[in-house]
Amino acid sequence: MREDMLTIGAFARACRLSPKALRLYDELDLLKPGRVDPDTGYRYYAVGQLERARLVAWLRRLGMPLARIRQVCALEPAGAAREIRAYWARVEAETAARRDLAGFLVEELSAAPRKDTTMLELRYCAHSDRGLVRPANQDTAYAGSRLLAVADGFGPTGLPASSAAVDALRVLDTAEAPAGNVLNLLDDAVRGASEAVREAVHGAGEDAGTTLTALLWTGSRLALVHIGDSRAYLLRDGALFRITDDHTVVQAMIDEGRLTPEEAATHPQRMLLLKALTPTASPDLRLRDAEPGDRYLLCSDGLSRVVPDPRIRRLLASAPSPDAAVHTLIAAANEAGGPDNVSCVVADVVEAAA
Ligand code: MN
Repeated sequence: MREDMLTIGAFARACRLSPKALRLYDELDLLKPGRVDPDTGYRYYAVGQLERARLVAWLRRLGMPLARIRQVCALEPAGAAREIRAYWARVEAETAARRDLAGFLVEELSAAPRKDTTMLELRYCAHSDRGLVRPANQDTAYAGSRLLAVADGFGPTGLPASSAAVDALRVLDTAEAPAGNVLNLLDDAVRGASEAVREAVHGAGEDAGTTLTALLWTGSRLALVHIGDSRAYLLRDGALFRITDDHTVVQAMIDEGRLTPEEAATHPQRMLLLKALTPTASPDLRLRDAEPGDRYLLCSDGLSRVVPDPRIRRLLASAPSPDAAVHTLIAAANEAGGPDNVSCVVADVVEAAA
């Protein structure tokens, strides 16, 4: 045996992988032995292979799947670094979604009574406008005493898709009171909505569908469900907070460090959705405590793509009522060219009239 070749046992000890793992990685073409003895079938590894083997061991410790490790190992160091960063951004996004779900469950199960006993309710307004360019309006906007929703339909059957989604959620607005577990209630309603959308776009396949961003009022809290690139904002104490993440391909590329926000603004695929309302996609769910004085805005991308956040904040903060806010915001989108359908729902959290 050549001096720079190690037995599988020695190599395994040196690179912190087990002989069993090394045999598997050989079969998967992830790490081929430097030499296999034709008579005995024993595997031998070159000392020079240690570096790669240890990288595989580190990536395993990171939890990276083997298929992805193979891709990373095939790249030069800078490319490998990019891939690892992208993988980790994905893990963090998934962890954030699970953290929200855990928080939701903790809130539901602990059901801590609110400190104050003020009765709160919503004052709301919803409106949708075709804009100045599109031949038809495929958005659907809705506001009721318990439900606020915006859906942005796309494709040849975009309008049936967005209206089917919102119609399916409206059961939440007619229920006496959202009884029992809010998470179950919302999940069932969203499942109903995604199935209604599937029926509505029947034949159009992946080319048609809808986004959905909705808030369900429980009397002291708001449950948020969100999928796609419509948005929800909260105006509290004069500051504007965006409380949804865009599920777009470019946002995922920004999160993964492959694109800067400046590049994203002109990216040819900036409109491409990463997720839309389908029976298999899982929407983001969040539970938020409401405070008197809060003003919520739901909007389709027809507003947020043409009116910058600071302007949205100013218009939202200065409008005397939800009705005035909705109409001012839609006018601002149309002043900016109105390139898309634009929908806005504004709701104020107020103390209930006695
Ligand atoms: Mn749109």
